[in-house]
Amino acid sequence: MSLRIAPFLPELLRSLFKKPATVKYPFEKTPVPPGFRGNVVFDPAKCIGCKICVTDCPAEAIEIIRVSETEKKFKMLLHNDRCIHCAQCVDSCPTKTYHMDGEFETAVLNRHHLKIEYK
Ligand code: SF4
Ligand code: SF4
Repeated sequence: MSLRIAPFLPELLRSLFKKPATVKYPFEKTPVPPGFRGNVVFDPAKCIGCKICVTDCPAEAIEIIRVSETEKKFKMLLHNDRCIHCAQCVDSCPTKTYHMDGEFETAVLNRHHLKIEYK
């Protein structure tokens, strides 16, 4: 038995003093890399209601709803259970209304709880 372990012994000893390559997720979290596509975030102050995002979203995950008869004010309903995090809405919006955050822990038991309303 000791003969079989002999070739691995140096590596084994080295590993004892090395920092682990893994983290104890979910107790420890590593930061997401730049450009990570988490959740879509909408800024209602910038939206002009053109609905280009609705047309361009390949997952039909966006609803833009007018909230005022007199003013050009809009809210956005994101069906996050359909969103494929492609960031097409971020690229398409002419007024830079969207960005994507670094959130990745979005699992829920009921997909309807993934609906997000921004107003
Ligand atoms: S593309 Fe931008 S400005 Fe146009 S409706 Fe969508 S969020 Fe609003
Ligand atoms: S990230 Fe892609 S799938 Fe998600 S809402 Fe934007 S365009 Fe639609």
